[in-house]
Amino acid sequence: MDKHVIPFNKPFVVGKELFYIAQAVMNGVIAGDGQFTALCQDWLEHNLGCNKALLTHSCTAALEMAAILADVGPGDEVIMPSFTFVSTANAFVLRGAVPVFVDIRDDTLNLDERLVEAAITEKTKAVVAVHYAGQPCDMDALLKICDKHGLFLIEDAAQAILARDKKRALGTIGHLGCLSFHETKNVISGEGGALLINDPRLIERAEIIWQKGTNRKAFARGEVSKYTWVDVGSSFLPSELTAAFLYAQLEHGERINKHRRTLYEKYFSLLRPLANDGFFELPRTEDDKPANAHIFYLLMRSTEERAALISFLRERGIYAVFHYVPLHDSPAGLRYSRTSGELSVTEDVSQRLLRLPLYSDMRSRQVAHVSACVARFFQADRSGV
Ligand SMILES: *Cc1c(COP(=O)(O)O)cnc(C)c1O
Repeated sequence: MDKHVIPFNKPFVVGKELFYIAQAVMNGVIAGDGQFTALCQDWLEHNLGCNKALLTHSCTAALEMAAILADVGPGDEVIMPSFTFVSTANAFVLRGAVPVFVDIRDDTLNLDERLVEAAITEKTKAVVAVHYAGQPCDMDALLKICDKHGLFLIEDAAQAILARDKKRALGTIGHLGCLSFHETKNVISGEGGALLINDPRLIERAEIIWQKGTNRKAFARGEVSKYTWVDVGSSFLPSELTAAFLYAQLEHGERINKHRRTLYEKYFSLLRPLANDGFFELPRTEDDKPANAHIFYLLMRSTEERAALISFLRERGIYAVFHYVPLHDSPAGLRYSRTSGELSVTEDVSQRLLRLPLYSDMRSRQVAHVSACVARFFQADRSGV
C-alpha cells in the first residue's frame, strides 16, 4: 500500500501470533477446543472476571448462542437499539423472535434506558445492551429493569474488549456477554468471538450448544460414560489456529488499548478548537475519556457536509467512513421487527456520524495529518455547504 495512504482500518500483528500457530500445528491438534482455546478462555475468565468463557467463530455466533440460551422463540420480543450492526438483531430473528427497536441516548449513543420500560409487553423475553464504541450502557438501570420484569440481559460487547463501567468489565454484567475479535476490532483473530456466561446456571447448556448439541464436554471430563446428542446446538467453536492467533493478541490487549487511547486523545485535543467553533461535535462521554478507544467519530452538521468531508479526505488518501444505516427501516427490519416510540436520535445520528481512521498500529503523526486535513476542509468556511 502507498505509504501516504491512511486506510480506515488495518489488521495488525502484535507479538507471537505466527509462533503460536506453529506451536498449534506441532501439537497435532488444529480442530477446536484444544490447548490454545483453553488458554484464551482462561485468559478471558481471569482478566475480565466472568464465570465461563467459550470461544466462538464470531460475535455473531456468540449472539446466536445467547438467543438459544435465553430460550427465545417465535413471537417473543427482544428490546434493542436500531443503531447497531445487523447481527444484534439477526441472532434473534433466526429463532423467530421480533426485535423491538428503542431509541438511543444523544450522549453515549447507547440504548436509552429511560425508554426501555415503555417497550416491554408480555411477550418481551430479553434486552440487548450494545456498548457502542466500547462506551458502557447504563447497566445498573438496565439490570434493575430486567430484574423487575424477569428478562434476560444480554450484552453485545463486540466493540468493548477490556472496557469497563466503574469496576466491571463490559460483557460480564448481564446474564450473557458477546465479544468480537473480527479484524476491525481492537483485539483480533481475523474472524472470532467469545460468549461470556455470567449466570452459572447457563454454563452446562452453553457447553452443549457449543459442541453441536452433544454432551462431549462432560464426556471429556469423565462426567458421563456416553457421548450423545442431548439438545439443539451447532458448531460454534473456532479452530486452534484461530485461537493461537488470538492468544498472542490477548497477551497484548491492554497495551493495544493504551495506544489507541493515546491516538483518540490526540484526535480529541487537535479537533477540539474546531468543535468549539461549532463545525462539528466531538464524542460526549461521562468524563470525556474513551473506554477502550474503539471508534473515534465526529457528529457533522449535515449529511451533505459529511459526504463532502469524506470525499475531501479521500482525495488526500485518507479513508473515513460512516455507519450505521438504522435497522428499523431497512428492508429486513421492516419485515422482521417493530419499533417502540420515535427513533429520532437514531435517525439524526446515522445521518451525521463520521468515523475517522483509527487502528492499532496507527502513528500519532498520522492522527495529526488527518486532523490537519479536517481543519483544512473547514478553513474554506463551508458553512453554506
Ligand atoms: C462487529 C460487531 C458485531 C459482529 O461481530 P462479528 O465478530 O463480525 O460477528 C456485532 N455487534 C456489534 C455491535 C459489532 O460492532
